Amino acid sequence: MITGATIRNRIGWPGLHLVSDADLCEQCGMCNDACPMHLEVMNGVLDGNLYNKECILCGSCIDTCPNSAIRYAF
Ligand code: SF4
Ligand code: SF4
Repeated sequence: MITGATIRNRIGWPGLHLVSDADLCEQCGMCNDACPMHLEVMNGVLDGNLYNKECILCGSCIDTCPNSAIRYAF
């Protein structure tokens, strides 16, 4: 999956990814705790960039966020 995302990004194909709204984030850190890949999700939300080649798009951070600050997008 990591290889697939890397190739897709190099070619420029659209694909499923995460987007966030930093204004909704209360910095509770629950998304970090929920991530099975142990990624720094909250910092990505606050920076407005959730791209990480190790993200498996499992959606745990989306489901966990109490403020719906993270969602899928194409
Ligand atoms: S989608 Fe899954 S792997 Fe990707 S940042 Fe969210 S919890 Fe982590
Ligand atoms: S779970 Fe939601 S509100 Fe909490 S730190 Fe993550 S993005 Fe922010």
